[in-house]
Amino acid sequence: MRLRNKQWAKPLILAHPEMILVRPEKMQGHWQSRFDQARPLYLEVGSGKGQFIVEMAKTHPDRNFIALELQEAAVAMILKKQVALKLPNLQLVLGDGADLTDYFSEGEEGEIDGLFLNFSDPWPKTRHEKRRLTYRDFLRQYQAIMKPDALLQFKTDNQGLFEYSLVSMNHFGMTFDLVSLNLHHDKRVTDNVPTEYEEKFSADGGRIYELVAHFKH
Ligand code: SAH
Repeated sequence: MRLRNKQWAKPLILAHPEMILVRPEKMQGHWQSRFDQARPLYLEVGSGKGQFIVEMAKTHPDRNFIALELQEAAVAMILKKQVALKLPNLQLVLGDGADLTDYFSEGEEGEIDGLFLNFSDPWPKTRHEKRRLTYRDFLRQYQAIMKPDALLQFKTDNQGLFEYSLVSMNHFGMTFDLVSLNLHHDKRVTDNVPTEYEEKFSADGGRIYELVAHFKH
């Protein structure tokens, strides 16, 4: 998903340093200080326009959320919503999911209690495998910043990316908590929060896949 640049995006981001950080450095171990109080911390990589993370923050006031997004125009759309809502448990980051270990502390100090990937770009060409957010180098970074029993939740409409991710996560030694081949008709899932993409695709009759997994054996 590529959004057209928005003239107002950069000034809005610069005007709200209390809500959004740009490629944050030296934040490792200090993320809880960005919120009004410390709570379990959940990260979404590739939030798009933010429908999912905003709804999650509203329905889970007992958790803190970070929306990480690469595109300035997209994260500015989330910021616009947050300027109006002022949710105390939502923070935004303009940055790259490939740099997670620059942003969050690793290992024993792992700060992340749960990580979401929603409708990540499929990068179908084999030569672009390394850009897929479930490629092993990304999994390695997720593992580094997540607490040992934290869950990774991945949703997609793309069968190719789903199958690839299943294999990649399995090879990495992850344990699956849920594999759903048709999320919207899956009786095991009762608390699904749809994303923008998800609503669009399922309205057209498309099938949604979901994986939930963790790193600890
Ligand atoms: N999650 C949203 C958007 C899906 S489109 C939804 O379901 O509606 C995928 C999004 O991931 C795009 O907005 C894209 O800019 C973002 N993205 C892709 N690679 C990324 C990366 N390495 N780091 C952060 N965001 C990324």
